[in-house]
Formats: sequence, structure tokens, C-alpha cells
Amino acid sequence: MKLINFLRNESLSRHTSWKVGGPADVFFIPDNRQDLSQFLSQNKGNSVTWLGNGTNVLVRDGGIRGVVISTKKSINKITMAAENSCRAEVGASCMDLALFAEKNEMGPAAFFSGIPGSIGGALTMNAGSFGHETWEFVESVEVIDEVGIIHHLDPKEFKFSYRSVEFPFPLWFVSCLMKFPESETTTKSELKAMRDQRIKTQPLTEDTCGSVFKNPKPDHAGDLIERAGLKGYKIGGCSISTKHANFIVNEGGATSADIEELIKHVQNIVKAKFDVDLETEVRIIGE
Ligand SMILES: Cc1cc2nc3c(=O)[nH]c(=O)nc-3n(C[C@H](O)[C@H](O)[C@H](O)COP(=O)(O)OP(=O)(O)OC[C@H]3O[C@@H](n4cnc5c(N)ncnc54)[C@H](O)[C@@H]3O)c2cc1C
Repeated sequence: MKLINFLRNESLSRHTSWKVGGPADVFFIPDNRQDLSQFLSQNKGNSVTWLGNGTNVLVRDGGIRGVVISTKKSINKITMAAENSCRAEVGASCMDLALFAEKNEMGPAAFFSGIPGSIGGALTMNAGSFGHETWEFVESVEVIDEVGIIHHLDPKEFKFSYRSVEFPFPLWFVSCLMKFPESETTTKSELKAMRDQRIKTQPLTEDTCGSVFKNPKPDHAGDLIERAGLKGYKIGGCSISTKHANFIVNEGGATSADIEELIKHVQNIVKAKFDVDLETEVRIIGE
């Protein structure tokens, strides 16, 4: 198989916001969708893991066997499709989409501005903030299957809920068509206000993965962790943020094992104190 843009034994700590994670056997960056399609059609039998911006994954220290496909630097165009509607490719960042929407008066998309992931990650996680979620605005998606064939699917074919999306068959996203209500616009200063609000409450300058746990409604995971007295609690090189208790900070030198152990510790303490099972929002992958 001819592979140009690939690396062997690439450390995934270079591709995750927690800056931890062992190596990928093969790390592939497709140039474009044809390249991706050709790669998948010839990749029979090897396991495939997809990575966007790596802001919602904990890759274990042993790394990932098989191939990791990364769209962090490719398949990333955003174009107008019709009035109030755009097509976003999965490698574009959520911030790119928020800025595009601000320029083209598609206001509600401003909620994407504080999410550091890619559009592919946002579609997979049904990412959301400030009262909106990704799939609220999705009109259709373009996906690729395990043998490299592209399909166009309607949102009705997916089941989505809070930070969770069930797929109709094994697939990865390539692009989506999004439509926003014409009535709302957003200004640059509103985007800045959203950013400022996050800076006040979240440790944005540190190496984290955002919220580690889903909120067990009607509670907030951060409140439960704080009430359990765990703010600042440390294992190895990582600790519970003193700014927001649902964030785990890599203080420098943390391993994935440290972070996983801290996650389990938090789950055990919160279960013992409040009889609540905290489910991770972060996806733990690899070996
Ligand atoms: C400081 C900080 C703040 C955050 N704030 C928010 C927030 O407000 N709201 C929120 O919802 N999240 C938030 N997050 C979490 C994270 O940014 C989102 O979940 C984001 O959508 C993940 O995108 P990603 O590209 O980084 O995905 P990754 O972490 O790379 O991947 C996440 C999952 O998506 C899969 N995936 C990625 N791309 C594709 C694709 N094209 N097709 C199929 N599967 C794919 C991966 O295999 C993996 O299972 C925050 C994170 C940080 C670090």
C-alpha cells in the first residue's frame, strides 16, 4: 500500500490536549477525501482509530495498535451552502466554524467558539455549550465506511442525546451540512464575552481534556466532586483542578495511568458519598 503522509510509532502525547498517551503503530494524515477513501479500501483487517483534535480522549500509555487516522490538519474546509447554511468538513475546528458563522451572520453557531475540538469530534460527541448542541443544527452528514465508500445520511439515522451519538453502522464523519436560524446574529464582542466567561471558571491555560465526567442530571459532576472535598487532590503528575472540579490537570509528567487512577478514585468517592455513578465524558482508548 502506498502511504505518503504516515508516521510509524508516533507518540500520541503530541496529538492530545492532556499531552499523554503511548504510540500509534501507524499515524496517517489523509491529504483529502480521495486519499482517505483509497487508504480505507486497502486497509482490510487493520483496526482503525480516528482522532480529531484529541481534546476528548485519554490514550493509555501502551498506545494504539493498528492505524490512527488524524484530520487535525486536513479535510478542513468550511463553505456557504445556501442562506444560513454551511458545509463544514470534519478537520475544521469548532473555532473556525464559530468565526465563519459570525462573519456570515449565522449567530447561534457562536456556541462552538469555546470548544477546542474538531467538527468531526463535535459530531461524534454531540458537543455543546451555552444551551446548544451540535446536532440541533445538522441537516445531513457525509460519512465514510470501513471500506472507503462515502454515504450521505439524514440525522434521523442517528440516535443522539447528551454528549452521545449512536451510529447506524461503523462509520466516520467526513463533513456535515448545518443550517442556523436567520433571526439571530452574533458579534465579535459576544464571542469574546463567551470566552471571558470560560476563562473565569475553567483552567484553560492548563493541559486538560475539558469536563472529564458527564453531568448526572439534575446534579453537576463538578459540584459533587467539589462537595466530596476532592479539589486539588493529586495522583502522580495530575490533580483535580482547583478552578473547576470536573477538570483533571496534567501538571507536567503525568502518565495516562495516573489520570485513569484519579478518574477511578473520583468515581469511588462520589459513589460512596452521594450514591451517584459518574460516567466519563472523556473516551478512554488504547492499551
Ligand atoms: C478546555 C476544554 C474545554 C472544553 N469544552 C467543551 C464544551 O464546552 N463542550 C463540549 O461538548 N466539549 C468540550 N470539550 C471537550 C472536547 O473539545 C469536545 O468533546 C470535542 O467535540 C472533541 O473534539 P476532538 O476533535 O478533539 O475529538 P477527539 O478527542 O479527537 O475524539 C473524540 C471522539 O470522537 C471520535 N472522532 C473524532 N473525529 C471523528 C470523525 N471524523 N468521525 C468519527 N469519529 C470521530 C474519536 O474517535 C473519539 O472517539 C472541551 C475540552 C477542553 C480541553
